Amino acid sequence: SNDYVRKPEWLKIKLNTNEQYTGLKKMMREKKLHTVCEEAKCPNIHECWAVRKTATFMILGSICTRACRFCAVQTGLPTELDWVEPERVAESVETMGLKHVVITAVARDDLKDGGAGVFAETVRAVRRRNPFCSIEVLPSDMKGEYDNLKTLMDARADILNHNIETVRRLSPSVRARATYERSLEFLRRAKQMNAEIPTKSSIMIGLGETKEEIIDTMEDLRAKNVDIMTIGQYLQPTKHHLKVQKYWSPQEFEELKIIAMSKGFSHCEAGPLVRSSYHADEQVNAAKAN
Ligand code: SF4
Ligand code: SF4
Repeated sequence: SNDYVRKPEWLKIKLNTNEQYTGLKKMMREKKLHTVCEEAKCPNIHECWAVRKTATFMILGSICTRACRFCAVQTGLPTELDWVEPERVAESVETMGLKHVVITAVARDDLKDGGAGVFAETVRAVRRRNPFCSIEVLPSDMKGEYDNLKTLMDARADILNHNIETVRRLSPSVRARATYERSLEFLRRAKQMNAEIPTKSSIMIGLGETKEEIIDTMEDLRAKNVDIMTIGQYLQPTKHHLKVQKYWSPQEFEELKIIAMSKGFSHCEAGPLVRSSYHADEQVNAAKAN
C-alpha cells in the first residue's frame, strides 16, 4: 500500500534455493534448538552457515517476556528452564563445524537470574567441545541486574555484545522495557568487569532517526569504550511491526562506517543487510589486534 516506503533493489535478494543446509535445519528441530538465522529468515543464512561457518543460536526458549516493536520473536510466558540445552547447543556447534558462534537469548524477565546461569553454562559447554570456535554472547540487559552480567562475564566469551538497537530519541517507542541509558551502563559495566573482552553494540536504522542522531549514538558507545559497532537496515518483519521510515542507501552506510571508524571503533560493519552477527568472525580478530 502507499503507506509503505518502497523496498529498494539492493534489498531484493534471492534466497539460495540450493539448500545445502536442509540437514542442519532438520537437526535443529530434532535437538529443539532455535537459531536467529532461521527465525528471522536472515538473508545471509547460506553465506553464514555454509561459507563462513557462523550461526546465531537463541537459547532459553523461543518465547520472550518482552515485546519490542521491531522483533518477530513470540511474546508470552516462557517455558521452564532447560538445563540440557547448553549441551545440545555445544553438539550442534560441533556438527556444523562452526568457527564463530553467537549465543543470544530471549529476555527472561520471569527468572531471578534472567537466565544468566544457563547462558554461562552454554558458553562453557560450547568451549569444552569446540575449543577453537570463538564465542560471542548477545544478552538482553538482564533487567539491569549486574550480578547476572557478572555470571555471564565469568564464563569468558570472546565478545560481549549488547545491542542498543536505536538512537536515544526513538528508544522509548522501539524497545520494550529496555532503555538507552541502561544499555550504555550495561556495556560500561561489562568493560569494567573484564577489560580484555571486547564489547560490541548494534543499531538498526530506517526507523526515522537522523544522521546526527546516529553519530551521537556512536559517541555514546565510544564513551563506554565499546570496541565494535554494527549498523544495519531495519526491515519490518510483519505488518504489525514498526514501519520502515527510510531505506538508507549503500553509499550512506559506507559513509557511516567511515564516521564510526573515525570515532575510534576497532571494527564497524555497516550495510543494508548487516545484522548484529554478520561477519562477526572478522570482528574477533580485529578486536584482538587492537
Ligand atoms: Fe545467522 Fe547472523 Fe548470519 Fe543472519 S547474519 S545468518 S542471523 S549468523
Ligand atoms: Fe525480541 Fe529481544 Fe525484545 Fe525479546 S527482548 S522482543 S527477543 S528484541
